[in-house]
Amino acid sequence: MATSAPPAVAQLMVDVHGVHKKFGSLHVLRGVDLKVPPGGVTVVLGPSGSGKSTLLRTINHLERVDRGYVSVDGELIGYRRSGDALHELPERDVRRQRRQIGFVFQNFHLFPHLTVVENIIEAPVAALRRPRKDAVETARRLLARVGLADRADAYPRQLSGGQQQRVAIARALALEPKVILFDEPTSALDPELVGEVLDVIRDLARGGTTMVVVTHEIGFAREVADTVVFMDGGTVVEQGPPSQVLDHPRHDRTRAFLAKVL
Ligand code: ADP
Ligand code: MG
Repeated sequence: MATSAPPAVAQLMVDVHGVHKKFGSLHVLRGVDLKVPPGGVTVVLGPSGSGKSTLLRTINHLERVDRGYVSVDGELIGYRRSGDALHELPERDVRRQRRQIGFVFQNFHLFPHLTVVENIIEAPVAALRRPRKDAVETARRLLARVGLADRADAYPRQLSGGQQQRVAIARALALEPKVILFDEPTSALDPELVGEVLDVIRDLARGGTTMVVVTHEIGFAREVADTVVFMDGGTVVEQGPPSQVLDHPRHDRTRAFLAKVL
């Protein structure tokens, strides 16, 4: 049946559009497009040096883009549009935007001198001016969610890597972000601790949290991802559902990469 009406498009949660990024003469992102609908898991795969971390860092404006734009939940990141011109946002507005974009790092990045619960309430109390009592209550609820209800008063050094990463995830959740970006969240972990962190991410996915996850865990991608994106050389080579990209890749570069990691 012929139809001229465009399909209804739900607002994207993350829209990376034509993004270029150079470090000096090194052209790291070469026109990247990444469209993430609300409430799904996008897994980004690709060889080391292909630009995955840089892509995540442009989404929360830790790196400024040279060309293109990023928007999150319809809001341009780092800039304000006025007519055809873009104006840089002041630092306090960028900080406000960043708080809506959770970031979980490979090496956890917890504050070593603060307890688990203090790590989690730090930003809600200092930046959002939440009453400490409410922030602690929320932190305890989130700790229960990541299976660490009994470790609230421990220091990071007293925890395993998997536990530290789960605290980092609880800390990200405490700001009620619109999206959480994970940069190889299990790469620094001993193999036996990978599963507990992936289980938490899987649980968040069921709860509808929007996530972009850079990982080499193909089994996790196959099971949890709505979309798999394969990057190489600063471009998105292909993307689609896991059944397509992982089992029937269209590009030789994707096939070659998968042959190495599977
Ligand atoms: P990936 O996460 O896929 O391994 P990255 O985004 O970390 O890739 O890096 C892509 C390329 O950009 C690499 O060649 C890396 O050395 C380079 N790069 C990343 N960050 C910087 C930086 N701040 N300054 C200079 N080069 C960088
Ligand atoms: Mg990286």
